[in-house]
Amino acid sequence: MPRAFAGAARFLRSVHDDRQTTMFRDQAIETIRRSELERLQLKRLQDTVRCVAERVPFYQQKFAELGVKPEDIRSLADLRRLPFTSSADLRANYPTGLLAVPYDDTLRLHTSSGTTGKPKALFFSRQDVDNAAELCARSFVMTGVTKKDVFQNMMTYGMFTGALVTHYGAEKVGCLVIPAGPGNSERQLMLMQDFRTTFIHLTPSYALYLATFLEKHGVDPRRDLALRKAFVGAEPYTEETRRKIEQGLGLDVYNSYGLSEMNGPGVAFECGQKHGLHLWEDHFLIEIIDPQTCEPVRDGEAGELVMTTLCREAMPLLRYRTRDITSIITTPCPCGRTHRRLNRITGRSDDMLIVRGVNIYPQQIERVLMAQSGVGRNYLIALEGLDEMTVKVELAEAGFEGQVEQLMKLQNHLAEKLRAEILVKPQVQFLPPGSLPVSEGKAKRVIDNRKL
Ligand code: ADP
Ligand code: ZN
Repeated sequence: MPRAFAGAARFLRSVHDDRQTTMFRDQAIETIRRSELERLQLKRLQDTVRCVAERVPFYQQKFAELGVKPEDIRSLADLRRLPFTSSADLRANYPTGLLAVPYDDTLRLHTSSGTTGKPKALFFSRQDVDNAAELCARSFVMTGVTKKDVFQNMMTYGMFTGALVTHYGAEKVGCLVIPAGPGNSERQLMLMQDFRTTFIHLTPSYALYLATFLEKHGVDPRRDLALRKAFVGAEPYTEETRRKIEQGLGLDVYNSYGLSEMNGPGVAFECGQKHGLHLWEDHFLIEIIDPQTCEPVRDGEAGELVMTTLCREAMPLLRYRTRDITSIITTPCPCGRTHRRLNRITGRSDDMLIVRGVNIYPQQIERVLMAQSGVGRNYLIALEGLDEMTVKVELAEAGFEGQVEQLMKLQNHLAEKLRAEILVKPQVQFLPPGSLPVSEGKAKRVIDNRKL
């Protein structure tokens, strides 16, 4: 066997041996003592670093540039000696440059869309497929899902990780899985009625749309459907949006976070507390850094989430810069799980808009809109001309009946509330319900046509 493959085989054997996903020694993995968890993380980190040093030319070169060797990683603090990996590195090494196993040992390919140029290719080995499913299963069970549940998966199937990974996770729990995909709300409703769907997985934008659809068709989900839970993720949303979805669909919404580079969904999910997302630290090492200086932020401060895979075989990634902005909740969760929680992801560092010199995140606007009664569930931020911002928002069905005078008052009121939040006063434009485009996948909330 060539030396490099022998290295990979040793890595695989070593991680298979200790990679019990539900138990570690005699402790349930979800409530493992922190000291034990850290011991496990260090061992897995060392294995991962050794593997990429033997197998992945990209990391070999980076290690050489930084003068770092696998044996230098003696504690978790040594993580900081390792190189970052960016999405540009993934694109530059497209299609197979970051593979750490022979091509024959790959089992599944996913890609992450990216907006320009080549996608990012993400490979999974058999163990990676199984681990990803396991983490989703763990996350579902955490909120009380059992094999009796019926799962209607409204995420996009295909190259995107969102649907397939949760599909396998729910099957692992033993649920009946309905691979509906997004959109076609008439069919969704029929499936939910005929098969007594109890939980769904979908984007916040589609969830809001579905709520409007049910309302329009006179369906009261509490009376007419068996729905109990929705796992909502793939794009940022606010607490106000969570409440709107919960009211409209008559269920509990749990925030679910993942990204293709880290297996897809199942990276961090909310428990029954619905306060912060437990990030599965037996599979991922997390750091929060200042995206400008790349230095760690202080405990509990917001910054960019950086993740290192601890169990990935086909494509281990060191210190992957997610661009997602979040912070770690520093207090232990009352549920007893010891894996730390992330606060809601407020957006990607590259989602930030600069309008008239002010930094604005679309989520700030969403928060104001969704808290306002009379306002509907769909909105768009249009940047035009020399730096003009117009917030286009649909009215609620009932709101549209209002008098012109009342509507103008509400428009002004919202513009002022937005100014207080984002420090720039936008135009607010009301639109009839159902007039903005509905996205089935990730919503496009910002259109930038500025001539700056
Ligand atoms: P793509 O990169 O093509 O959009 P991914 O599925 O890899 O496809 O998208 C992952 C990204 O989606 C994350 O990096 C994050 O920005 C966003 N995301 C996923 N889940 C959530 C969530 N619960 N809250 C906020 N953002 C999320
Ligand atoms: Zn918890």
